[in-house]
Amino acid sequence: MKAIHCIFCKISAGTIPAAKLFEDDLVTAFLDIAPLNPGHCLVIPKAHFHSITEVPEATAGRMTAVAAKLGAALMRVVEADGFNLILANGAAAGQVVPHVHLHVIPRLPADGIQLPARAIPYKDAAARDALAEAVRNRLAASAKNGVA
Ligand code: AMP
Ligand code: ZN
Repeated sequence: MKAIHCIFCKISAGTIPAAKLFEDDLVTAFLDIAPLNPGHCLVIPKAHFHSITEVPEATAGRMTAVAAKLGAALMRVVEADGFNLILANGAAAGQVVPHVHLHVIPRLPADGIQLPARAIPYKDAAARDALAEAVRNRLAASAKNGVA
């Protein structure tokens, strides 16, 4: 299913240009138009989903597998030392384009990219354990009811 006004649906369909790197039945990968490092690319599902929580497991798995292969290729092609896989899910997480996409960002030593990172400790071990329990319960309920 495509969304008529979605830029990434259009890239996937080939109706607007992009430097495509890979495509198969489930996913498309192309260079990001505003790369954080050379080779920075995006892996998207061909079908339109806003959130990763809506993506079928087979497609989400393919996105990850293709991102890993692209990361490995980029380590050769741009001589990266590593790469980040980043998926911004929702506006609060920094998602701008409302078609889910997995960033593959090649990393070079001292490339100056600062990923937001600020640890916020739990109040105490009990607070941590209560949160872990709540998440486990939610996962169990989701598995039982088949909802995210
Ligand atoms: P995000 O903030 O995770 O939603 O990232 C959206 C990404 O899409 C940004 O890195 C943009 O540079 C990239 N982007 C937006 N439009 C295009 C386009 N037409 N072709 C390639 N990349 C794009
Ligand atoms: Zn779309």
